[in-house]
Amino acid sequence: MKVQKAQDLLSSLDFDSLFFHKGQAGLDAFEEAVNRTKALLLSEEETHVTPYSGETPLEVATRIDGLKVASEKGEGLEEILRDLQQRVFHPSVRVTHPTCIGHLHCPPLIASVIADLIIGVLNPSMDSWDQSPSATYVEQQLIQWICQQFKYPSSSDGVFTSGGTQSNYMALMLARDAFCLRELQWEVRRHGLPQQAKRMRILCSEYAHFTVQQAAVQLGLGEQSVIPVATNEKFQLDPCDLKDKLSTMKALKLLPFAIVATCGTTDFGSIDPLTELAEIATQHQLWLHVDAAYGGALVLSQRNQDKLKGIELADSITVDFHKLFYQTISCGAFLVKEKACFRLIERHASYLNPKEDEDEGVLNLVGKSLQTTRRFDALKILLSMRWVGTERFARMIDYTIDLAQGVVELMKGFPSLQVLNPHPEISAVVFRYVSQRHDEERDNQMNRRIQQMLLKQGHGLVAKTVVKGKVYLKLTLLNPRTTLSDIEKLCQKIIALGMRYTQMDMEVM
Ligand SMILES: *Cc1c(COP(=O)(O)O)cnc(C)c1O
Repeated sequence: MKVQKAQDLLSSLDFDSLFFHKGQAGLDAFEEAVNRTKALLLSEEETHVTPYSGETPLEVATRIDGLKVASEKGEGLEEILRDLQQRVFHPSVRVTHPTCIGHLHCPPLIASVIADLIIGVLNPSMDSWDQSPSATYVEQQLIQWICQQFKYPSSSDGVFTSGGTQSNYMALMLARDAFCLRELQWEVRRHGLPQQAKRMRILCSEYAHFTVQQAAVQLGLGEQSVIPVATNEKFQLDPCDLKDKLSTMKALKLLPFAIVATCGTTDFGSIDPLTELAEIATQHQLWLHVDAAYGGALVLSQRNQDKLKGIELADSITVDFHKLFYQTISCGAFLVKEKACFRLIERHASYLNPKEDEDEGVLNLVGKSLQTTRRFDALKILLSMRWVGTERFARMIDYTIDLAQGVVELMKGFPSLQVLNPHPEISAVVFRYVSQRHDEERDNQMNRRIQQMLLKQGHGLVAKTVVKGKVYLKLTLLNPRTTLSDIEKLCQKIIALGMRYTQMDMEVM
């Protein structure tokens, strides 16, 4: 009697159609859901002609206001998708649009999107081998492959991460702990920070990513521990200033322990002189970390990989795959030259990765990661590299680098567009509209307005940045489907807007 009741209840709740499983209900439900979603995505894509709908923050907030986020009895997928299409998908940024070129925000490869679907279905967790028996080894192989691309020795190792933020944090944590152990005979993991921590210093270019400071804060060293080094006219770290700063530190009895070199600064794509920095690091026994979140992808290009020369000398490397590797968010890696370093942060949980597992040769990746439960993002890289092929990958990257150079040449033909980095090493172009009135503040205001208006009118999603007090516009040309003619049209819009605003300002004055 009781059993019958329980079974009736079960069939009325219909759990069977909620999961993908080999029962007919599971297969049918999955197929239908995928088909409906596919239809929605196709129709969404067809209706869009601009990189963004142009709605203001207030308009979007109003759309989302009152959005139903849960329903007691459950709804049909079709109904939910229709609602979301209006309120959420419609006012989304179209990352695949040729003039969606503001941030380090790439159009994802179909290969990556499909891998994401597979990852979702299989849902392996990378922390312990028994949750990801094959995926564990796939990730290891991918890490080895990436290490080889960077000409890292066989002693190297790494782990997939959520991106550059986590990778940079890991680098500075290992650098800090290795330094404390070697120089101060102090084990941070056990005892916390040593009393000398207040004197520990990290050096990086003034254009290094803000996550260097963020990591220093989280590592208990404070922002004061990060010393910005001057850059040259190409926005690359100046080794002379670095040497000066190191001698000053020595005199002050400070304890420099790491240099962060940037291989592709976020604004300019500039690459610090890696070989020279490696020499200085060796001389002063400093950990050299290369933040190659943006520039790491150049390793795939025969034509451009020379720009990374010296990266193989780094103690650790950050690579982001959700930038110039065209992967869905999130996907990154942290690489170290000496895998023994991971011992500094490793920990053992009896339920997950007991020491006995290691003795028996079972590989649990949790010991290398800051995360416990972790996605099988390595599959996205594998599918992309095999499906697209490394040759076509290289050509995409080369194309975007050539495009950036082409854009610089193009802008030379427009006297009111002033380029700040006329020799981009990767694919970022920083420039501004200048009005000839020699009024810095008005020009700043105008460039801000141009950026907003381009987005509002749907001409382009362009970024803005401030360099030495001046507002600039920025193009990050990751999309290999963007053409020079797309940019030419965008430039004409920018100039038209600039002229109009100058006119309006004059009338007010
Ligand atoms: C994007 C970026 C980061 C941060 O990486 P996330 O993947 O956003 O966490 C760090 N450094 C550089 C140079 C970057 O371009």
